[in-house]
Amino acid sequence: MSEPAVRCEGLIKSYGRSLALKGLNLTINDGETLALLGPSGSGKTTALRLVAGFEIPDSGIVEIAGRRVAGPALFVPPEQRHIGMVFQDYALFPNQSVAGNVGFGIPNKSGREARVVEALALVGLEGLGNRMPHELSGGQQQRVALARALAPRPTVLLMDEPFSNLDAGLRTQVRTEVREILKSTNTTSLFVTHDQDEALYMGDQVAVLDWGELKQMESPEGIYHTPETRFVAEFLGIADFIPAAFQAGNLETEIGMIPWGQKSPPEGVEVLLRPDDMSLAPSTSGQGTIVGRIFQGPSYLYEVELESQRKVRVLQHHTKRYEVGEKVQVRIVAEHRLACFLGEELVG
Ligand code: ADP
Ligand code: MG
Repeated sequence: MSEPAVRCEGLIKSYGRSLALKGLNLTINDGETLALLGPSGSGKTTALRLVAGFEIPDSGIVEIAGRRVAGPALFVPPEQRHIGMVFQDYALFPNQSVAGNVGFGIPNKSGREARVVEALALVGLEGLGNRMPHELSGGQQQRVALARALAPRPTVLLMDEPFSNLDAGLRTQVRTEVREILKSTNTTSLFVTHDQDEALYMGDQVAVLDWGELKQMESPEGIYHTPETRFVAEFLGIADFIPAAFQAGNLETEIGMIPWGQKSPPEGVEVLLRPDDMSLAPSTSGQGTIVGRIFQGPSYLYEVELESQRKVRVLQHHTKRYEVGEKVQVRIVAEHRLACFLGEELVG
């Protein structure tokens, strides 16, 4: 195995009395994107600024491509770290042309002009080098910012909520383009976001931060289906929990049995249910009552109250229409092992 492209170990950073990072460990493999996800104030920007060198850690180390850039008695300034940055507000130089912006970080002698043309082509802005930033749409400005960051061929690209100024429709399109560019150029990147959909889409790995602590780092599928804590489960999407009792290799719940295995889980466990883990059927003797319905285009998201008065949310195809007040049979249809929690923690 080669060195990780980025390695952070034990990063602690406080601002006055507020502890923004409490000992962060992170690695990013070469050519991969790590999506750093967490609520506002969880320390995402602080982590990115420590990797960039805009902040000095109280303790801990940062290594980029195996080279230590921050650690005890060691601090390499940002301009010597070979990083590229894309900010939320793009931060283009307003008085410089597109080409001027993109060429900013490239030393003159290393074929700046050719590289600017190349970088603009990479982001689909061929021929716009002479435009000024204000003559471009938001999506185009974002791509200029990306071209500027990629033009000097950084070892790592750092992006802090780069799509949050784009409107919803454009955001989906731009993130697809950016992901493709990162993959086609084999760019290692740290992508910071508070949006779980974006994290699952952009990340080869997803790391969830809460109050300056890393809760879990895993593949998008792994973190979605096997969150290690309730916090992660709830942060990554709709999550409902229902009590389950172990009986002869199964977990029994009020909406049916789940195959489990011979080893009994601790008493008092709850099963994590995502909306796509269940299905509904019309039934006057069913255990569920529809109490809410949200139309989402291809599907409906139903809120269903069970006999215990617990509620679960169930995703159904748009052809399966139920009315509020209607009785339904709720079934578990997950074709994967469901995660089980005791209190805050995953038990299997
Ligand atoms: P996020 O990017 O996840 O929203 P930040 O890294 O910006 O979180 O902030 C983490 C915590 O550190 C927050 O409590 C924030 O208020 C605090 N913080 C961040 N930057 C500063 C600063 N320059 N001065 C004081 N407190 C700060
Ligand atoms: Mg931030």
